[in-house]
Amino acid sequence: MKLANYLNGQWLEGAGEGIPLFDPVTGEELVRVASDGLDLGAGLAFAREHGGAALRGMNYESRAALLGRIAEVLAANREAYFDISLRNSGSTAADAGFDVDGAIFTLKTYARSGKVLGAAKHLQEGGRVALAKTDVFQGQHFLTPLTGVAIFINAFNFPAWGLWEKAAPALLAGVPVLVKPATPTAWLTQRMVQDVVAAGILPPGAINIVCGSARDLLDHVGACDVVSFTGSADTALRIRTHPAVVANSLRVNIEADSVNSAILGPDATPGSAEFELAVKEIVRELTIKTGQKCTAIRRILVPAANARALADAVASKLAGMSVGNPRSEGVRVGPLVSRAQQAAAFEGLAKLRQDADVVFGGGEDFTPVDADPAVAAFFQPTLLLCDKGLAALYVHDVEVFGPVATVLPYADAAEAVAIARRGRGSLVASVYSGDTGFLAELVPAIADLHGRVMVVDGAVGNQHTGHGNVMPTCLHGGPGRAGGGEELGGLRALAMYHRRYVVQGGSGLLDALSAGAADAALLGA
Ligand code: NAP
Repeated sequence: MKLANYLNGQWLEGAGEGIPLFDPVTGEELVRVASDGLDLGAGLAFAREHGGAALRGMNYESRAALLGRIAEVLAANREAYFDISLRNSGSTAADAGFDVDGAIFTLKTYARSGKVLGAAKHLQEGGRVALAKTDVFQGQHFLTPLTGVAIFINAFNFPAWGLWEKAAPALLAGVPVLVKPATPTAWLTQRMVQDVVAAGILPPGAINIVCGSARDLLDHVGACDVVSFTGSADTALRIRTHPAVVANSLRVNIEADSVNSAILGPDATPGSAEFELAVKEIVRELTIKTGQKCTAIRRILVPAANARALADAVASKLAGMSVGNPRSEGVRVGPLVSRAQQAAAFEGLAKLRQDADVVFGGGEDFTPVDADPAVAAFFQPTLLLCDKGLAALYVHDVEVFGPVATVLPYADAAEAVAIARRGRGSLVASVYSGDTGFLAELVPAIADLHGRVMVVDGAVGNQHTGHGNVMPTCLHGGPGRAGGGEELGGLRALAMYHRRYVVQGGSGLLDALSAGAADAALLGA
């Protein structure tokens, strides 16, 4: 079966044989995707002309209501999405929940928070700016929804959340969306779009999907479109430097990879609440979605005296986790998404092993439960210990996109800061400490190279939202190698889908233009 694409308000099949999608446990071919022969330029034009116009004809509150209805449709089909996740990504129920329920939660959050913008159709920013000796001539800043398309080029690891965390703020802003999911897991994204289209919630052209190659998609972008990309740094560079993207000064948001840190403070000694919380979170990060999360912990910074104890504690928990076919009773960790990802993970691990010793895993004697290693894409959870600190050649640069992390002993707070910063820009660092002196030195010193810093002590306990869990109300993105993007953060995300402009003129005109506008300060509320 070839999955259809949705463009011009129609389901269209791509030409040719298509690209197959597989079950990473059994190797069975599931469906195919193809975008050959589609007129992507016409699809974008239709989305701008019909989808954009219809969405902007509505106000923020009505569009927030659409998001609520989308969330209801997705919730009603949740079982089908878990089944596709299991078959196409080898997801356990917990893995599928992270993606699917995360998508529904994000949509519901925007459906709720978007209501605050009420019946407005645009936003007014700040007060009048004095430009003349009297009030006869003034300036007023506004934010207006973009009249283009929000183009999402997504990664394979979040086929559900990856679409809706971007689409929720774009649609709320009044901008139509076109998603190009990553090929290996495009099925779930396509099925969700199919369900939303079938429910007749959105106007024609407001949602579009192209499965398979992006082909000439970016050749057709215009100045009012926006591209939001999630994936590897190499592809990000190609997208950023695409001639049409450059020529149109297109707004491009990049969410790329990063080597995120967990940092134990000097007070996180074995037996302390902070130590136990760190161990629990590291194990969760290594195993949920089999470590295929952009936010996953890759480097674990520990005071030298406690490094071995931490590594042993994590290793002993990993030893008790069953890895294999998620259809089997008791299995907690599934496969990687494909044989290609498995090969890339082994390649990355070989590099890390030049810097570090394997404490647990490594894969030599590993046999997955109820699966044939000859066809399946399994990778044993692996923990390494590297005593080379900043001198390590690969640990600070290589992101093994799987269940792999490295413990790095550090001498003092200054060295912990230097190692965390050596990641050259990360999505997140989590710090396990209640030592205010240590935190006051560390947190501001890593802030400009991290999108998010999560601090957990005994008082926070298990109430924290998680190192790798992206909350729709908080900023997601990171500087430098992490791509330099900013997503979510509540209504702040709407800024990307609006253009700021200023009108200079008489106060009567400005009063007329301001009528009915919502206060842009609400975006940061
Ligand atoms: P990828 O190979 O870079 O692919 C990402 C997307 O780009 C896919 O949809 C891919 O399509 C498309 N693509 C590839 N070449 C293209 C081109 N020349 N023009 C337009 N589109 C193109 O990344 P991936 O392997 O799917 O994802 C894994 C990476 O994503 C990891 O490094 C991970 O850290 C990162 N990630 C980051 C975040 C974040 O929020 N920061 C979240 C998730 C993942 P095809 O699949 O059809 O090739």
